[in-house]
Amino acid sequence: MGARVTDTTEESSIDLLHGRTIRAFLFDLDGVLTPTAEVHMHAWARLFTPYLEGRGVSPYVEQDYFDHIDGKPRFDGVRDLLASRGIELEPGTPDADPADDTVWGLGNRKNSVFSDTIAEEGVAAYPASLAFLKAVIDDGYEVAVVSSSKNAPPVLAAAGIADRFDVVVDGNVAASLGLPGKPAPDTYIHAADVLGLTVLECAVVEDAVSGVQAGARGAFGLVIGVDRGVGRKVLLDAGADIVVQELDELIDAVSKTETTSSIAENNKESK
Ligand SMILES: [Mg+2]
Repeated sequence: MGARVTDTTEESSIDLLHGRTIRAFLFDLDGVLTPTAEVHMHAWARLFTPYLEGRGVSPYVEQDYFDHIDGKPRFDGVRDLLASRGIELEPGTPDADPADDTVWGLGNRKNSVFSDTIAEEGVAAYPASLAFLKAVIDDGYEVAVVSSSKNAPPVLAAAGIADRFDVVVDGNVAASLGLPGKPAPDTYIHAADVLGLTVLECAVVEDAVSGVQAGARGAFGLVIGVDRGVGRKVLLDAGADIVVQELDELIDAVSKTETTSSIAENNKESK
C-alpha cells in the first residue's frame, strides 16, 4: 500500500506532499474535470426509471447511481444495477441496438441519451479543476486522464481541454487492451506505465467510490477524493488520502515552485 495520510483534517493538506515524490496527476474525467457525472446520472435515470417500472421491481432512485453505477464501465454499471433488482439479462454485444433487451442494449440506450445531451448543451470544465490543472502543468507535473467512459474524447474536446492531455486511458483503450475497469486499478496503472512512472510517483484524482478504490488498490502514491456528493467519509473509507470540495484547494500544497525556491534560498545561505 502507498503511504497513508492519517490526519485528514484541513490543516494537513498543506503537508500533502511531505515525504512523497509525486510526478504526475492522473485525473478521472466525469465529475473531476467536467460536471458530466451529472449528465451521466440523468441519462441513467432516464434509462432505468421506465425500465425498472416495466419490470415491476423496486423503482430507480438516485442512490442507485452511487451504489451500483458511478465510475464503472457502462456494461458493469448496467449489470450491477440489474443484479441489485434480481434481474439477469443476456450480455448482448457492444454494437447492440439500443432497443435490445440485453446488457449492452440498455447500455447503448443510456449512451445515446448522454451523447445527445452533450451535443445539445455542451460541457464547461469545473473552473477550480481547470485552475488546478493549469497550475500542475505549469509546475512541470505530468498529467493524464483515466476514464471508464468511451465518451472521454468528445467530452474533453467539448470542454476545450483535449490538448492538455497526451495520455488518455478511456473505455476504448481499456477495451482494446482487455483492461478491467474501476474499481480494478489496471487502467490507472496503464496510465502510469505510459508516462514511464511508478504508481508511487502518481496521484489519482477521483470523485467516485469505485475510482478511489482503484487508486487505493493500485497502491498509488496519493489518492485525492473530490466530494461531488458521495460524501467525505465514504471517500475516505474507500481509501482516499485526502478529500476536497474543489481541486484549487490543493494548488499551494502541490506547488513545487515554493519548495524549489526555498531550497535555492537555503543553498544560497549555506554558501
Ligand atoms: Mg468520476
